[in-house]
Amino acid sequence: MSLIEITEVRKSFGANEVLKGINLDVEPGEVIAIIGKSGSGKSTLLRCINGLENIDSGSISVAGAQLQPDEIHLKALRLKVGMIFQQFNLFPHLTAGGNVMLSQMVVKKTAKPEAEAMAHKMLERVGLAHKFDAYPDELSGGQQQRVAIARALAMQPIALLCDEITSALDPELVSEVLAVVRELAAEGMTLLMVTHEMKFARDVCSRVVFMHQGRAHEIGPPDAVFSNPKTPELKQFLGML
Ligand code: ADP
Ligand code: MG
Repeated sequence: MSLIEITEVRKSFGANEVLKGINLDVEPGEVIAIIGKSGSGKSTLLRCINGLENIDSGSISVAGAQLQPDEIHLKALRLKVGMIFQQFNLFPHLTAGGNVMLSQMVVKKTAKPEAEAMAHKMLERVGLAHKFDAYPDELSGGQQQRVAIARALAMQPIALLCDEITSALDPELVSEVLAVVRELAAEGMTLLMVTHEMKFARDVCSRVVFMHQGRAHEIGPPDAVFSNPKTPELKQFLGML
């Protein structure tokens, strides 16, 4: 059994079919890069895996449990699968530590002392132990995104979905966030990441999924996808045509 099983998933917004039968099985510890043009369905796919969008047909299962579109199941799913976005969405009136504590206390009903201990631990993991009491506007974009990663990790997810998490950052701040992701990957975290960082995808990912017009147009190990693309669409995307 794979950790995440995506089978024939279809999703439309009105008449616009955005996912046209996606199949992808993700093994525990895999790091998968999702690449492709804007509008190809990358974000929608991640949002479906996290239950932020309901699928029209097909199935998605996470750790053996099939996604059901009702609140109880969705809540359980969001406890298992973390998601990090381009925008960090930290609460401005809470410190870094407070941000990492809040969802644990609200969603998981973790008691405050445990949530606080976990927040210290996770901020340390992303290299921000010393920023526990700092407010978001006292942090750089890269630091804020690392707090967002710590917040997701504090929920102890079995997989993390990352949607262009370095795209809103100034170029000089990208590497500190990628370094954290690289470390998570090395520790065995299962990661699905939509990214434009091709070098990172090549170095760190076990497989690359090229999305094109709502389909997983090509899937393969990074070497095959980047050095030996099969389809003209991928060649064009990579600037080889
Ligand atoms: P990507 O992340 O690859 O840029 P998206 O998954 O965001 O692509 O979008 C794929 C398509 O779905 C686009 O045509 C987009 O306009 C459309 N879409 C995404 N979300 C919605 C929504 N909530 N309502 C209507 N259309 C949407
Ligand atoms: Mg997107």
